[in-house]
Amino acid sequence: MIQTEDMEFAPRIITPENTDEDGDIEVNLRPQTLHEYIGQDKVKENLAIYIEAAKRRGEPLDHVLLYGPPGLGKTTLSAIIAHELGVNLRVTTGPAIEKPGDLVSLLTSLSDNDVLFIDEIHRLSHAVEEILYPAMEDRVIDIIIGKGPSARSIRMDLKPFTLIGATTRAGQLSAPLRDRFGVIQRLELYTKDQLTDIIRRSAMILGIPCETDGAAEIAGRSRGTPRIANRLLKRVRDFADVMGNGQITQQIVSIALGRLDIDELGLDSLDRRMLEMIIKGYGGGPVGLETLASAINEESVTLEDVCEPFLMQLGFLGRTPRGRVATKLAYEHLGYTRPDDGVRGQLSFG
Ligand code: ADP
Repeated sequence: MIQTEDMEFAPRIITPENTDEDGDIEVNLRPQTLHEYIGQDKVKENLAIYIEAAKRRGEPLDHVLLYGPPGLGKTTLSAIIAHELGVNLRVTTGPAIEKPGDLVSLLTSLSDNDVLFIDEIHRLSHAVEEILYPAMEDRVIDIIIGKGPSARSIRMDLKPFTLIGATTRAGQLSAPLRDRFGVIQRLELYTKDQLTDIIRRSAMILGIPCETDGAAEIAGRSRGTPRIANRLLKRVRDFADVMGNGQITQQIVSIALGRLDIDELGLDSLDRRMLEMIIKGYGGGPVGLETLASAINEESVTLEDVCEPFLMQLGFLGRTPRGRVATKLAYEHLGYTRPDDGVRGQLSFG
């Protein structure tokens, strides 16, 4: 069993990134069709129309860019798109495509209308990106043969294909790349009700007895993220097996997640450290992200990609041109009294 004392050194249980322990269960729990995919209704409605239109015309689907925080279902959705189109899916990531030649061999191995999924597409190198532009726009690639003055460029035709790019940081995508996607969809954090449905579905697939109240309690602490919801379900099952009769109840969830240092809103120790530093170290803010990250000895990307979307959704954190600010709600949640605005203005720096 995990001891709370160890949590400082253990990886964050609520990290939305994929971890080794997620591997097996994620494969089993991935929905296969748009119908099974819970939430993201607008995205689903749009995609269903584009998929149907592409199928009727016998053409590939337009290139799709999916963006939003990690763990919200971008990879799952791309597999569903390929499944609904009835084509093959090739999966890779930006950092895995090291050289232009790697991308060329991927692109030339695709069959008609196949889907190529590139996760973390913002991390493609410039040289690789240059290959993508004509590939996406005109279905051709230009290969340079030889070096120096005798180098020749050969143009090769590609089969029709769909590129699905996924990124947590749409802002980091270069404009020429972004412009070549015909469909750009943002995935939103999930509501508590949607996560409750996801947890009940997962519990059924995994054969875990789970009361609706128990599922809702996990949902409320999953930071709007299905990957975290599924991971917490798995952890709570251990507590239910050892401390109860295997049934996941609201009470077992409270005990288990309390032990894991995840509070009733889903904040963990890193979220609390971040907010406490803004409140106690910087008078509530504004404080710049880099300053804040070094003050709590954490990577600024972790704060920006993982903590901030969730804290902003809760209304605990504000972003201003001068930096981050803790809101009244954050003060209240952490049990601090907010000084009045005049005093806070004098205290703040950053
Ligand atoms: P991302 O690619 O955005 O990081 P994934 O597609 O890998 O996220 O999703 C993480 C896990 O969450 C998957 O195993 C899947 O089971 C679950 N999941 C994501 N979205 C949904 C959804 N809409 N309905 C049900 N389960 C989902």
